[in-house]
Amino acid sequence: MPGIRLDSVSKVYDGDHLAVDELSLEVADGEFMVLLGPSGCGKSTVLRMIAGLERITAGDLWFGRTHANRLQPKDRGVAMVFENGALYPNRTVRENIMFPLLVAGEEPAEASVKAAELARILGIENAIDQFPWTLSGGQRQRVAIGRAIVRRPEIFLMDEPLSNLDATLRTELRQEIGAMSKDLKATTVSSPTITSKPSPWPTGSRSCATAGSRTPAPPSRSTPTRAPRSSQASWARRGST
Ligand code: ADP
Ligand code: MG
Repeated sequence: MPGIRLDSVSKVYDGDHLAVDELSLEVADGEFMVLLGPSGCGKSTVLRMIAGLERITAGDLWFGRTHANRLQPKDRGVAMVFENGALYPNRTVRENIMFPLLVAGEEPAEASVKAAELARILGIENAIDQFPWTLSGGQRQRVAIGRAIVRRPEIFLMDEPLSNLDATLRTELRQEIGAMSKDLKATTVSSPTITSKPSPWPTGSRSCATAGSRTPAPPSRSTPTRAPRSSQASWARRGST
């Protein structure tokens, strides 16, 4: 599995809105990284640039030794889970999870076994033949995670995957996601849900405070505002939680 490196990566929206300012970040092979920062500071933008859903304005993105700026999303080995991981409403949990395998041409019987195994790891094996509307929010999000990782991505991205859950469930699911990503050996980058009382992230995970985005420049300005050096990414290593 490759690590991820961002070298002075910036994103400018609409010609003058500097959303990410020269972010340099290294996520080691198999590491779990949490992007921290207030709403609007560019967490989603960073994740979307890693996934290839958003073009990088400046700087370099590396997956291991591969320069990834221009790789097609489908060629990146990346899976991403969003806040509202929408499920196929007319498919069961098992069918939702195995769907990407079927699309990739895998035999249904084999895909079904893999889906069941993943459901077990995610603690939703009892709901495997249920439809999404019968599930709790936490169960639905587990299915969305299962569907994202069933093809064993090398890089796993999560954008506030737990924001719709209550605090207890969020803490529990965070620990499970941590264990699962270790199991998968996927390099994982996640943005958390900011709450007044943050709950812990998995033991051994590392967090990175992303710099805030800049106020949109006035129309007359032709170049984006540069963030002061002090607001560049800073680091904190988490010992235990
Ligand atoms: P976060 O995920 O940390 O809340 P975002 O990455 O969503 O932050 O947004 C960072 C900044 O970029 C914000 O100022 C936001 O308004 C802006 N932004 C995000 N997406 C777009 C877009 N598609 N077009 C223009 N501006 C955007
Ligand atoms: Mg966001």
